[in-house]
Amino acid sequence: MIPIHEQFHSWQGEGVHSGRSAYFIRTLGCPVHCPWCDSAGTWHPDYIPTKIERFSAEALAQRAAARKPEFVVITGGEPAIHDLLPLTDALHACHLPVHLETSGAFALRGEFDWVTLSPKRWRPPLATVWKQANECKLIIDSIGALTEWAPQLLAWDVERPIWLHPEWSCIQDATILDAITEWIKVHGKPYRAGWQLHKCYQADLRDPGSQAAVPLGGNVARGY
Ligand code: SF4
Repeated sequence: MIPIHEQFHSWQGEGVHSGRSAYFIRTLGCPVHCPWCDSAGTWHPDYIPTKIERFSAEALAQRAAARKPEFVVITGGEPAIHDLLPLTDALHACHLPVHLETSGAFALRGEFDWVTLSPKRWRPPLATVWKQANECKLIIDSIGALTEWAPQLLAWDVERPIWLHPEWSCIQDATILDAITEWIKVHGKPYRAGWQLHKCYQADLRDPGSQAAVPLGGNVARGY
């Protein structure tokens, strides 16, 4: 049984598969504790729900298959803290490709058709996950974020895109947007400017299974 925060049919708003019909399964729990997390309901003591639903892999796969998406995205929280092999097996048995979104801080357990790595400085990715990822999504929350990750990014295979996303509370911060623009102009491939397009459409909220994002303001004294 897997603890689930929400599951809903929408479309992928980020990365290479942006714009495609996708069913999202958001698992509960995340030990990474980013100060700007917009899924605080998956881990934060002030926002985590009192009633936590748990589903079998088969039940999750049947719900997903009933919505007929192009693929399923397992996300979180940090989904890799769970053994996802039973779920990926059940989804594949329903002929659904499986995508994973992870911070990379934990070894992946499951069979994935696409892995999006979103590294976080508070708990950096394992070397194995850097290699397994099909694309990287770097959240730019300061103009120093790009140089901070440069050593890992220089070792990255240029055929795998690296998306540079402004952290959502910074989307009108010209210094962040300009830093992304200049980095892409200077370095070119594999960097691409990214955006969370589904938020502009409020696409996820059209499904009653989704929950409104809970953005944190950050509180170092409390450990996030
Ligand atoms: S942004 Fe992702 S990795 Fe960071 S705390 Fe939130 S769920 Fe965890």
